[in-house]
Amino acid sequence: MLFMTYRGRFAPSPTGPLHAGSLVAGLASWLDAKAQRGAWLVRIEDVDGPRCSVDAAQHQLAQLASCGLHSDEPVVWQSQRASHYQHALNQLIKQQSVYACQCSRADIAKALLEQGVVSERHRDLPYPGTCRGLSLPFHVGMSMRFKADTQVLHWHDRRLGDQQQHLATSVGDFVLLRSVGLWAYQLAVVVDDAAQGITHVVRGEDLADNTPRQLLLQQALGLPTPIYMHTSLVLAADGKKLSKQNGAQPLEVATSEQGLAALQAAAKVLQLQPSHAKTCAQALAEWVMQWRDKWGITG
Ligand code: GLU
Repeated sequence: MLFMTYRGRFAPSPTGPLHAGSLVAGLASWLDAKAQRGAWLVRIEDVDGPRCSVDAAQHQLAQLASCGLHSDEPVVWQSQRASHYQHALNQLIKQQSVYACQCSRADIAKALLEQGVVSERHRDLPYPGTCRGLSLPFHVGMSMRFKADTQVLHWHDRRLGDQQQHLATSVGDFVLLRSVGLWAYQLAVVVDDAAQGITHVVRGEDLADNTPRQLLLQQALGLPTPIYMHTSLVLAADGKKLSKQNGAQPLEVATSEQGLAALQAAAKVLQLQPSHAKTCAQALAEWVMQWRDKWGITG
């Protein structure tokens, strides 16, 4: 029997320091990799150039290190991988799976309104397909969209169970290259998960509804689909996912005591028992055992 070598990753966007919520995803992905005797890789998702900084990324890596979380391979930076995203886009252009789009957000909102679709405020708007049949020649300032022809996509999540998403109404054709010339997260994440041989994705539940888009892209590009697990989130006082916008404080992990305290808090969110260990390394080793029991990992 062939055993798959587990390769997992943590992929923070360096838009600021890690906070308690980001550490939960980082810890969960690390524990799952170690529980399955696999490799844990860190990838810096800095495709959104203007919002990201090298300093923030270095700070995030230092925060992880203070918690005893170290990438098993050299850290990959998405800002250095544009040629790979272009290559994937070229493949999709050849397959006629993408098209150029000139719609602004306001255009999309107006078209939806005309179709009688009332969209919630602050939510990504499903694309109504305005430019799909127009065969517009691409030029700077336009976006490139993937034709999401699948109506309903079913997938399985190790924690959430069977999932489905009605892509046509909730997402529509989605952007791979943004009108400002930046690569979209969906394309970069799919290309890089495959390039790094990622077998298991463990990340926050707020990203679960991105998974169907990523599955579609994997299929279109002929890439393997990893096994997915979306973890619980740290909620802010307003009941929403903790984020910079609703007051998440940067993780203070300058000392090893602080690192251990931050890990204890993250472990609690993951419903692990508190550790009485004195060091991060010992606590992590205990939680690896707990994780194996909790998720029925054998072998
Ligand atoms: N870079 C994404 C974020 O920080 C995570 C991507 C992923 O894990 O797929 O939200």
